[in-house]
Amino acid sequence: MQTPGELLTPRRPTRQISVGGVAIGGGAPVTVQSMTTTKTADVDGTLEQIYDLAAAGADLVRCTCNEEAAAEGLAHIVPRSPVPIIADIHFHQEMAYAALEAGVQGLRLNPGNLRKPEEIKSIAAEAKDRGVPIRIGVNAGSLHPEIAARHGGATPEALIESAELELRYFQEVDFDDVKISVKASSVPLMIAAYRLASERFDYPLHLGVTEAGPPPAGLIKGTAGIATLLAEGIGDTIRYSLTADPVEEARAGRQLLEALGLRERKGLDLIACPSCGRAEVDVIAIAAQAQEALEALALPIQVAVMGCVVNGPGEAKHADLGIAGGRKKGHLFIQGKIVRVVPEDQMVEALVDEAKKLVEEGIEARLAAADAGAEAEAAADRAALLEAKGEDANHASVRIAKIHKVLGD
Ligand code: SF4
Repeated sequence: MQTPGELLTPRRPTRQISVGGVAIGGGAPVTVQSMTTTKTADVDGTLEQIYDLAAAGADLVRCTCNEEAAAEGLAHIVPRSPVPIIADIHFHQEMAYAALEAGVQGLRLNPGNLRKPEEIKSIAAEAKDRGVPIRIGVNAGSLHPEIAARHGGATPEALIESAELELRYFQEVDFDDVKISVKASSVPLMIAAYRLASERFDYPLHLGVTEAGPPPAGLIKGTAGIATLLAEGIGDTIRYSLTADPVEEARAGRQLLEALGLRERKGLDLIACPSCGRAEVDVIAIAAQAQEALEALALPIQVAVMGCVVNGPGEAKHADLGIAGGRKKGHLFIQGKIVRVVPEDQMVEALVDEAKKLVEEGIEARLAAADAGAEAEAAADRAALLEAKGEDANHASVRIAKIHKVLGD
C-alpha cells in the first residue's frame, strides 16, 4: 500500500545539498525552517528561541547577521545551537564574511540588495572554500530594480531572471552548493514563480509566502502557497513567514508536512544540545539511551538532554523535562528549574523515572516535589565549571578576532 505522501505527485528530482549535516533536496525529507526574532547579539535570548524552534519542529534556523555585534553573537551561538544556523545577509557583503568566520553552516543572500557581481562571486568563492551552501533568496518585494523595470514589475519570469543572474555569478567561480527561493506575498505569484523555477533549475527549492502576516490569515496564505506546491512535488525545504512568535512558524511547518504525509508524526519529542566545548557528558550516548527508553513508554512529553549545567537548563527551559551534565552529576530540571541532582551514571534512569511521574502527576506537582537543595547544588556546580573552563569554553574569541579582521576593525 502507498504511504499518504506517495499519493501526491512524486517529488521532482533535485540535487542535494547539506546545511550543517541536514540534507536538502535529492529525495531527503522536506525540512522546516524558521527565523529568530531576537537580536542576534543577544546570545542567550537567541539560543533560547532556537531551542524553542527546534522543539517545535524546525530543522534549520536562520538568524540575521546585520551588524558586527550580530556576527559576534553567531560565533557564540553556532557551537551551542541544536540545529544548523543560516545567516541572513542583506546589503552588506562584509557581513557574509563575518558570518562565515563565525562558523555558520549556511548563508542566505538577497540578490535584490547585494548586486555587485564581483562581491557576489567573492562571497561564493569563500563559501565554496568552507563548504557552506548559499540560498539565493529572491523576493518579489525587493527585486533588482532593473529586472523589475524590464518585466513591468515582479512577474514570475522576473523572479526567475534574478535567480538566474545570481546563479551565473556563482557558476563563474564554480560554486553550485545552492538552493533557491522565489518568494512573494502574493500566493498566485509565488506559486507561478516556483513552478517556473522547478522547470528551470534542478537546485533544491526553499518555499515560502513572504510577509504573510499574522495568523490565522498568515497561516492560510502560507499553507495555500506551500501546500499547493508540495502536493505538486515541488519544494525541498519550507518556511512560514508569520507576524507572530516564530515558534508558530516552526510548528505550522511541521504540522503541514505531517498532514501531507511528508514527515512522520512525533510522539516523544527529544531534543539534545550539540555538545560544545562545555560538554561534561557524552550527550549523543545519553540522548540515544534516553530516546530508546522513553520511546518505549510512548510518553507525550518534550525532553532535553544537555551537555552542561552551565547553559543547558536555561537553553532548554521550555522543555517539560531535561537533564544536564556537570561535575560527574546529572542535573534534572523541569521547565528550566533544577529539581534533583543524581550521580552521572544514573542520569538516564532518573530521567525516565521523572518522565513517568511527570506524566502521571503533572508539572506543578513535580515542581512542588523538587529536592530542597537541588537548585543550590546546581548553582555551585555551575560556578565551579565556569571557574574551571572560563567564560569562553568554545573559543569564540578566536572567531571574533577574525570577524574584526574581516570587518576592518
Ligand atoms: S554543552 Fe552546554 S553550552 Fe554546550 S551546547 Fe550543550 S548545553 Fe549548550
